Amino acid sequence: MAYLELNVLDNAPKPIVGIDLGTTNSMAALFVDGRPQVLRPEGNSGYVPSAIWFGENGRLLVGQEARHQAAADPGHVLFSVKRFMGRGLADVGSELENVPFPAKPGENGGVRFTIRGKEWSPEQLSALILKKVQWMASQALGGKPVERAVITVPAYFDDTQRQATRDAARLAGIEAVRIVNEPTAACLAYGLDQKKQGTVAVYDLGGGTFDVSILAIEDGVFRVLSTNGDTHLGGDDFDRELVQLALEDLALPPALAQDRTLRQSLRLSAERCKIALSKDPSAELQLIAPDRGLDWRRQIARTEFEARIAPWIERTLACCRRALADAGLETRQIDEVVLVGGSTRVPAVRAAVERLFGRRPHTELNPDEVVALGAAVQGHVLAGGTRDILLLDVTPLSLGLETMGGAVAKVIQRNSPIPCQATEGFTTYADNQTGLDLHIVQGERELAKDCRTLGRFQLRGIPALPAGMARIAVRFALDADGVLAVTAKEESTGVSAHIEIQPMNGLTDGEVESMLKSSYDNAVADFDARRVADLKVELGIMLRAIEKNLPGFKAELDPETLADIQDARRAAEAARAGDPKASEIQKVRDALERASLPLSALMMDRVAKDALSGKKLGDF
Ligand code: AMP
Repeated sequence: MAYLELNVLDNAPKPIVGIDLGTTNSMAALFVDGRPQVLRPEGNSGYVPSAIWFGENGRLLVGQEARHQAAADPGHVLFSVKRFMGRGLADVGSELENVPFPAKPGENGGVRFTIRGKEWSPEQLSALILKKVQWMASQALGGKPVERAVITVPAYFDDTQRQATRDAARLAGIEAVRIVNEPTAACLAYGLDQKKQGTVAVYDLGGGTFDVSILAIEDGVFRVLSTNGDTHLGGDDFDRELVQLALEDLALPPALAQDRTLRQSLRLSAERCKIALSKDPSAELQLIAPDRGLDWRRQIARTEFEARIAPWIERTLACCRRALADAGLETRQIDEVVLVGGSTRVPAVRAAVERLFGRRPHTELNPDEVVALGAAVQGHVLAGGTRDILLLDVTPLSLGLETMGGAVAKVIQRNSPIPCQATEGFTTYADNQTGLDLHIVQGERELAKDCRTLGRFQLRGIPALPAGMARIAVRFALDADGVLAVTAKEESTGVSAHIEIQPMNGLTDGEVESMLKSSYDNAVADFDARRVADLKVELGIMLRAIEKNLPGFKAELDPETLADIQDARRAAEAARAGDPKASEIQKVRDALERASLPLSALMMDRVAKDALSGKKLGDF
């Protein structure tokens, strides 16, 4: 059995986008031109409201269009599906009150919604939102496919909820390269990973949820120390305070006060007023409905609004104190505070957080986008991009395969962030070669004999074909736990073989250092040795082709050419068997090529003629 010849099948880097799969809004971002940016198609914010409308006959609308249906057809719009991801019916309880569809337990312990006669799992529903985000991202990238993503989840998500998120991505046709905690992503967006050490409080106040996380940074890696929060506290409560204020002032008759359309338009007016109050000292709250004889307007002072929302803000601070206590830290031990979520634009919220922690929070980035931006930073690094001293888990030594002749094809380069994967394409070296030895090695040296052997396995059942015709893809996948899975697959038959190895097992830091040092010390000699090994393989292929084809063309070649070919063949055989320098074997190779040119010309002629008469190249 022989090792194989290497040629690259498909190794072009594909972008890894960052996706914030939010309760209220979702979006994708990508690291371009040295910074992360939200992917927005022209004339679009890039935000996908996490809403789905179910029409008749299987019609679906997702995102902004679904949200617009909420006023006209609230009975068929689903919001906040994230609240159900990876959770059982018993756990979600009161969450179901806000869902207009019946729910029942699913087979795997999850929830199933029956919507217009069809059953849906939260994963399938989230996949619809992810698909829309994927489409939006692809539009922004001029139609480029978006297939790989870093997806964020709340820090408190358990394994089942994380797996449900991965499953949703898979259903949407997206490979979730990594699941990252939302607060960690926010820290990455602010570049806090570049600190050697420190503690961060991430305060995330959205429309309907509040989360606080205390993180430790150690050598650029984040560890969640504690989390706290309230799954039903956010900007919606601020809106409700203003709605309440209006209703008190209006003193509407009960029938009118309960009117769905009126309440909806009052809620929208309240949100507009709240947003205006984030920059102006006063703003108008109004309820105008000429058909009901209503034209009510009132100026609201920021101080009045702040007095009404103070209890809600105090509740978030209580969560922060609990998170700090759980982390065993005092407020003064927090080095950085990061604000996430649209409701942190409220000046009273910012001031309260600053007072509690005794330091100014980070607010430079858009709080609605900071999580997606951080996920994009992580995606960039996982795709092999660099950012100054960004420390993530990396593989300290290259991983590769021995190729024909004893050289190494590095499949995963040293310092690649993990998890990572790469696929190389190979073909057979000999005619009718039906098996292949795979020798997996680790290290920076050019020849397999100078690297560390990690494992060997065999692929059998390759169909008998002429040399060079089989297509074998060898995939290296290094997961986040440092386990390397190598799979070799023959593409026409699908036969495959697989091995799993722990490349860093039994290696100390000192040994890694010395392996790196020996590659530097031997760099020049290794380069030459590799050239010799590769040229020997090339000579072998050339010699076999001559041996096979010469008898058939002998009559058409003049005696001088034949003698030249024989001399060059002898020199090549000697070079292959001996221990030549790279420059010597290169000369021998060039001489063989020159001598056999007339033979090659005849062969090409024959190929062209046979191609016209329908004979295949493999028939030679
Ligand atoms: P998120 O869930 O992070 O998208 O946050 C949405 C919440 O932020 C909603 O309640 C919005 O009304 C609120 N919000 C957005 N912009 C502002 C603003 N400028 N001032 C106050 N609240 C805002």
